[in-house]
Amino acid sequence: MPFVVLSTVVDNSVDNSADPLYTTRQDSMNLIWTNALKVIEAKMSDQNFDLWIRPLRFIRYSGSDLTLMAPNPYLKEWFEDNYLRSVQVEIFNQTQQEVAIHVLVDEMSPPTSPTSVESTSILGVDPGPGNEPKPQPAATGMIPGQRIAAHQGAAHSFLNDRYRFDNFVVGPSNQFAQAASELVAQMPGTKYNPLFIYGGTGLGKTHLLQAIGHSLLDQHPGWNVTYITAERFMNEFINSLRLGKMEEYRERYRDHCDVLLVDDIQFMAGKDRTQQEFFHTFNALHEKKKQIVITSDKFPNQMPELEERLKSRFTWGLIVDIVVPELETRVAILQNKADMDDIGLPNDVAHFLAARIRSNVRELEGALIRLAAFSSLQGRPITVEFAQQILQNMLSRNSGQVTIERIQREVSAYFNIRPKDLKSSRRPRSISYPRQIAMHLCRKLTPASLAEIGRQFGGKDHTTVLSADKKIKRLVQEDEATGQSVEALERILTG
Ligand code: ADP
Ligand code: MG
Repeated sequence: MPFVVLSTVVDNSVDNSADPLYTTRQDSMNLIWTNALKVIEAKMSDQNFDLWIRPLRFIRYSGSDLTLMAPNPYLKEWFEDNYLRSVQVEIFNQTQQEVAIHVLVDEMSPPTSPTSVESTSILGVDPGPGNEPKPQPAATGMIPGQRIAAHQGAAHSFLNDRYRFDNFVVGPSNQFAQAASELVAQMPGTKYNPLFIYGGTGLGKTHLLQAIGHSLLDQHPGWNVTYITAERFMNEFINSLRLGKMEEYRERYRDHCDVLLVDDIQFMAGKDRTQQEFFHTFNALHEKKKQIVITSDKFPNQMPELEERLKSRFTWGLIVDIVVPELETRVAILQNKADMDDIGLPNDVAHFLAARIRSNVRELEGALIRLAAFSSLQGRPITVEFAQQILQNMLSRNSGQVTIERIQREVSAYFNIRPKDLKSSRRPRSISYPRQIAMHLCRKLTPASLAEIGRQFGGKDHTTVLSADKKIKRLVQEDEATGQSVEALERILTG
């Protein structure tokens, strides 16, 4: 039972001083956590607090990351969906620092523990049909707008201090996006306005967006650099409407921003009034030559529920993408993160993780955090075997690795053709089009060379692969059906 040594969230009495990771900073962060809990506890019903918050354990604090441990995946998910934000707000209120919260799952927690999902209820008491504990929306009274209020005039604190250009590892997968971001930070409002960064989750879009913000604030400390997620933009909009404060809201964004950084614009798809509001904000800022940077998990044309006039504006400036980093970049990202957090990460373990976790940098970092936390808790060195043991679940989820054969299998199933057609030289569009998509996906999702891909498609020339890749890249942007097919296939392949 490796976790009995842990203090519970509200109990600071356990002595962790023998553990080097529990430095003074750990103690003070534990105190911050405990204080935040007290405020949150006062705002929640006892039942909800006992259910969803109390079982979390404080693990460690490093820089602006706080790691907690949940006794089961269910609690983790519920906490993240319903309470995480409120906790961030409370911690911000105390420290004026944004904190990223990571919740690990204690996979060794016995399944019969009172807080486990397997027990009749999460409390170990059968609530009876229809009486499941319904957590009240914890966010009430602690809505995102509160953060805004707390941050007024202090845009810096919106930004995670770790998301700077210095900490961003550049490789072929993100080179162009990184260069464009640096350029925008050097010459805001001139050449590339807006800058639109798109790419899959966990690939560094928010990091780059905030790096632009940091760099601009470093150069122009008096500027109002506003970083906002599209979701928060919408929530504030709704609240302003409700409270009759639209004028203030508009002023804040249209008149007082020197730079507007909008994260995850795809969230606005289908939200017509928010889009309308954003459209006018965009125009007002653009006219005044104020820099706008937008991130999205999709290319503008791949969002059917986004107004045409917005999409067209997004193409006024520069659109750049970030794709899955290749192995070397993944290793470098891990090493960079380990250095920042003073985690001793041996080379072979870095390679092992990078080779096994491919498609998402956030997950890669999550693996490292988990490894470091468990190594510190159990007093065991970080080795490949230890990683295999601790990350078992994560690794098996990633083991469905994207290979050329898998892509061929999925693509042929998707288009209802035979895998061997993909390898043939048959030319009808019903076959050549899926073949080109498959080649494009091989380029995007596997590290294989053009020649290797050509070989596995029945001995095609590398130029055939290259032109297929180019064609599909273009179609993804111009043709909605292609965009959707490629996206669906990517989702199938990368989970
Ligand atoms: P996204 O916004 O695209 O979903 P994030 O910007 O939140 O992704 O990145 C996820 C995590 O991965 C962050 O902690 C970020 O710092 C890290 N990360 C992603 N790409 C890089 C990179 N090239 N160098 C260093 N860290 C990276
Ligand atoms: Mg993001």
